Amino acid sequence: MVDSLVFNVAQLLRESIGAVRHVEVAANLQHLAPELEQAEGASEATLSGPVRMIHTNTGILVQGHLYAEAALACARCLDPVAVPLAIEVEELFIPTIDVVTGKPVTPEEDDRALWIDEHHILDMSEVLRQDALLAAPVHVLCKEDCRGLCPTCGQNLNQGSCDCTPDVDPRWGPLVELLKQTK
Ligand SMILES: [Zn+2]
Ligand SMILES: [Zn+2]
Repeated sequence: MVDSLVFNVAQLLRESIGAVRHVEVAANLQHLAPELEQAEGASEATLSGPVRMIHTNTGILVQGHLYAEAALACARCLDPVAVPLAIEVEELFIPTIDVVTGKPVTPEEDDRALWIDEHHILDMSEVLRQDALLAAPVHVLCKEDCRGLCPTCGQNLNQGSCDCTPDVDPRWGPLVELLKQTK
């Protein structure tokens, strides 16, 4: 799949205020936001959806509803967990060059992620990366009572127990001995 996050808005900036473009945005979630704890071996997730670009008197207003079904790693056993990510985008992108005169303009916006570059390229990657990270839960579990992995052998304890002796809190030692004797 080819990522589609970058748009040339030169033509739109030349049109009258209020002119609109409808585009379809798509990105491989792994490319877009490698920071997301995606489960290993899970199929690739695509963040996609319709986006509207509107020429305003200050720049290009981008509005869209994007969706991805991410496969995030369970915080305990690392199994994939399907997590829906719904992202509402509404950002104003600002030109750094006047499309008519070709002269540089100083954007009244400090966040460079919202700058349209000198070639009139509007790049949504950074905005969508941040939105995806915000939309994703910090901590996902495959189920409430996931038993996780054995810290010694790595066995997935949801699939069965292993032969490792669990570490016993030394304070329980005498009680464990007592239990052994009564067996
Ligand atoms: Zn789990
Ligand atoms: Zn074990």
